[in-house]
Amino acid sequence: MYSNSYKKCVNGSNYAYTKLKADDCDTAVTPNRSCSFTMAQKLMKSAHYIELGGRYQYWPVLVPRGIRLYTYEQIPVFLRDNPYITDGYRAYLPSRLCIKSLFILSNETVNIWSHLLGFLLFFTLGIYDMASVLPATRASREDYVIYSIGLFCFQLCMLCSVGYHLFCCHRSEKTSRRWMALDYAGISIGILGCYVPGVFYAFYCNNYWRQVYLVTVLAMILAVFFAQIHPHYLSKQWQRLRFALFCSVAGYGLIPTVHWVWLNGGFSSDLVQSFIPRVLGMYAIAAVAFLFYVSKVPERYFPGQLNYLGSSHQVWHVLVIVMFYWWHQAVLFILTHRHSHPCPDYTVHT
Ligand SMILES: [Zn+2]
Repeated sequence: MYSNSYKKCVNGSNYAYTKLKADDCDTAVTPNRSCSFTMAQKLMKSAHYIELGGRYQYWPVLVPRGIRLYTYEQIPVFLRDNPYITDGYRAYLPSRLCIKSLFILSNETVNIWSHLLGFLLFFTLGIYDMASVLPATRASREDYVIYSIGLFCFQLCMLCSVGYHLFCCHRSEKTSRRWMALDYAGISIGILGCYVPGVFYAFYCNNYWRQVYLVTVLAMILAVFFAQIHPHYLSKQWQRLRFALFCSVAGYGLIPTVHWVWLNGGFSSDLVQSFIPRVLGMYAIAAVAFLFYVSKVPERYFPGQLNYLGSSHQVWHVLVIVMFYWWHQAVLFILTHRHSHPCPDYTVHT
């Protein structure tokens, strides 16, 4: 059943912006007087009417019974992460209502839907690639496996994120934390999805180094997974350590990049000149995305104004999709190159 705090919030009289009276039909639910009384009654039976604060006050939103939105001060401590997002929080919900909240406007709506659409994008892209792109490059079974691993990791990363943003408002802190851990695991899986096809095709002609880098990357990702088991891993005190860990795992990719440039004849080589901007482009997108994530810009400068749209986490979500798509295209480039150009002689010695 509901916790005490939940009961208090639902039954409390200081229910500032939930209107339950039937006369809302005249004043708010429909601005003109055309709505019928029975319609209004039906509506009131199944929904609450929420007025959004700040600049969103003119967006009337219908919220299913049992879900309401809270201010930053009203939510439990474990949900307090960004004081510049002042309103629009879901909280104290059982799983069923968390799922139902997919269809309401809260400060997590854009976060949930952006990565749900991201998942659909990479799912569709996977089917399209398997059906028409890979057959056109005369791909082997090995290519299909590696390519699928990359896209599958992207899809998994998107789904973990959707899960976290949907269920973070769960009434149980433990459940909320578990989803948060899964979200972090999803980021590692996403990074793995960049590394596997990237290393595989960049070192296509250097079997030894390909194995070295793939094993190292896998070991690093596993180490991050194991670090997550530590009870303090998700705590605020360990936030910097978490960031440092993710930055090192992502930044490690610069080592095989430099090595690859050297193996392929330096910056004068055509292949290096075509592929390196693609690698650096990905790092640039990742860096900008991470800066938004940690700095909480722009809502830091407009507290309470970007609760529903335009906050840093939403920019981070969109940039992660852009980055994955960018890298997917880069992998397609290097794969096509490897299939159309035979490996040079130095492969004999490695
Ligand atoms: Zn997120």
